[in-house]
Amino acid sequence: MATIPHGSEAPSADILNRLAARFPVTTAVVLRTLGEPGKVQKIVVGLHDSSAIETVIIPAGTRHTVCVSTQVGCRRHCSFCASGQHGWVRNLTAAEIVDQVLLAAHHIGRRPTNVVYMGVGEPFDNYDAVMESIPAITNDHGLAVGIRKITISTSGVIPGIERLAREPLHPELSVSLHATRDAVRDRLMPINRAYPIPDLIRACRVYTETTRRVVIFEYTLIREVNDSLQDARELVSMLGAFPCRVNFLTLNPIPEYAESPSTRETAGMFMDLLAQNHITAMLRESRGDALGAACGQLRVVTTL
Ligand code: SF4
Repeated sequence: MATIPHGSEAPSADILNRLAARFPVTTAVVLRTLGEPGKVQKIVVGLHDSSAIETVIIPAGTRHTVCVSTQVGCRRHCSFCASGQHGWVRNLTAAEIVDQVLLAAHHIGRRPTNVVYMGVGEPFDNYDAVMESIPAITNDHGLAVGIRKITISTSGVIPGIERLAREPLHPELSVSLHATRDAVRDRLMPINRAYPIPDLIRACRVYTETTRRVVIFEYTLIREVNDSLQDARELVSMLGAFPCRVNFLTLNPIPEYAESPSTRETAGMFMDLLAQNHITAMLRESRGDALGAACGQLRVVTTL
């Protein structure tokens, strides 16, 4: 390590700035943990600039999934999601994304089996750092998480889907759909105005044809917003004969969004209709909502 010899001049601000830009020092630390061992746990991770993000550990049998954030805040403003309620502050570096996995691994005392990019932020709005973080997570001499055990979740950024298709290795791709009609999705997810449903589905089809990988669609069921029988039928006709899986979940409430989760009966109706039409679907159990750690509930903590 280089040291400044005694009696020499201190490096100039310009040199320090250039060093900082070239060799960023990450000092991600655990500020707080919520939850108990063996259950869903949330880690509040403090960053060097006094902002903080949230990382979630989800155990399930022998699986330990870490859900990482990719940005401080999010510019996509999905109406049901706490992460984007206060806008975007900055992108995380690749090191800050990897640090979350390392801190989570240290916290649970074992190597995670799965990593999902589903925390605060839209991963494809920080594409380069996300892709740069993956080799550090899959490296055999490090965390050694298999590429197929990594999932990137997008709100539907089509250029990101197209770029991912051209990568040599492909993690799982999950796309937040949440509606079958543009008018509904426009209200839930403003990104739909830039990348409407027909274009998004077309991009996903090309992705599966190019990569031979299945796309996972996420559909949050919200009472009387997107959970009618007509919605279920439209979902079937949109995804029929498409190599995909559908994950349903019921809305996790946040104070900023007044709607309610669909009932289990409604979720069952969607599941049955998809099964009858040979579309693989599962109802994701909502976990961690008591900690504000479930899907759509993660936030940015802006002061330490
Ligand atoms: S759902 Fe994802 S893309 Fe939408 S506001 Fe939340 S973090 Fe951003």
